[in-house]
Amino acid sequence: MSRSIPSANSPRVGFVSLGCPKALVDSERILTQLRIEGYDIVGSYGAADVVVVNTCGFIDAAVQESLDAIGEALAENGKVIVTGCLGKRADVIRATHPGVLAITGPQDYASVMSAVHVQLPPKHDPFLDVMPAARRRSGDRNIDVGVKLTPKHYAYLKISEGCNHRCTFCIIPSMRGDLVSRPIDEVLIEAEKLVKSGVRELLVISQDTSAYGVDLKYAAREWHGGRHRTRMTELCAALAELGVWVRLHYVYPYPHVDEVIPLMAQGKILPYLDIPFQHSSPRILKLMKRPAASAKTLERIRAWRAVCPQLTIRSTFIVGFPGETDAEFEDLLEFLHEAQLDRVGAFAYSPVDGARANDLPGAVPEEVKQERLERFMATQAGISAARLQRKVGTTLQALVDQVDADGAIARTAADAPEIDGVLRILDGSRLKPGLFVDVRIEAADEHDLSGRVAV
Ligand code: SF4
Repeated sequence: MSRSIPSANSPRVGFVSLGCPKALVDSERILTQLRIEGYDIVGSYGAADVVVVNTCGFIDAAVQESLDAIGEALAENGKVIVTGCLGKRADVIRATHPGVLAITGPQDYASVMSAVHVQLPPKHDPFLDVMPAARRRSGDRNIDVGVKLTPKHYAYLKISEGCNHRCTFCIIPSMRGDLVSRPIDEVLIEAEKLVKSGVRELLVISQDTSAYGVDLKYAAREWHGGRHRTRMTELCAALAELGVWVRLHYVYPYPHVDEVIPLMAQGKILPYLDIPFQHSSPRILKLMKRPAASAKTLERIRAWRAVCPQLTIRSTFIVGFPGETDAEFEDLLEFLHEAQLDRVGAFAYSPVDGARANDLPGAVPEEVKQERLERFMATQAGISAARLQRKVGTTLQALVDQVDADGAIARTAADAPEIDGVLRILDGSRLKPGLFVDVRIEAADEHDLSGRVAV
């Protein structure tokens, strides 16, 4: 649960945040609004007057986790408002938990706030009520950029909501709607504020970063006296001017992705692409209705690495998609050998309630899915380990995340928080979170590196 120190007599809200970084950004916005309106965010069910649960509804396991969290909040507190992706499926929530007070969907900040107001009116504060919101916040560097649930030195920068694609295994568009991009000046102003507040790494997120601005017809907006189009490449070039790490997530291999690779080679943004390929077989990709399904992926990867040899590629894959044959799975393993990706996550296909892929013929038996998943992970483990091993003996810049008596935990350009590996700095106990430091790499395993501060 999110927490802060309660002040006397303020209405108190407990908050449970589940799901992906996009849901985390929604949580940050709701918490920011609660703080602006004078609510205290408390860290225990017992101390809260009402509890908000921000849910995830992407796969069955996430639905169950969300239902469990709602159940726990009801049992411990009794007054629960539900929001987030699972909020789109109110019938599922009500069937298990008829006692919830209100249910709202993702990105619907106004409705969550209305539900909170009904249960727990904001405290009238004659001083705060006559001040504009920005002034109320200006005394606190954190609040100036809103409540952040990430450490002070990195932040997620959400550039759009929703998605125009209709991948057959995914129900996100039905939960979050079509793509709605934020105008580029709005994103850049937020990014600049974050950097001024101490953020050293901006993680660009969306459902489809490559599609950024397409709904706005790439409209140009003013920022710092220049005209900038609402488009991925222009956004990257402008963010590069802020002098911090900029990391791109959820990129699809459209042709214009090629345009950002030179920015990576020049050190302007991190040489890192999180690009969910999901499969290698053109037939399976077509069944999945993936964006850029016909892209010649291996050729593109080779071309990107020719321009930017230090490029890290992270991806995710689904094995055992309906109709996947033995030959198509072998093709996927071959793709892994050829592509030499750095970081890979994989899932055995699991039917998501409401997804069109459930109607496809040729369901793969569970034990075959699991066996394929194990072979896939074992194949990639060897590739990831070998690629990390090549870093031993080099010196890499790292951003320190945590420090204790045993040293520091940091990340290099190749490591996104939460999902990738870490760099343990063995002699880093005097470093501080948020510092950039050069580290001599001494050892590597399948996920992580270790080393000492370079002298
Ligand atoms: S691109 Fe596909 S998987 Fe990603 S959010 Fe859109 S529909 Fe879902």
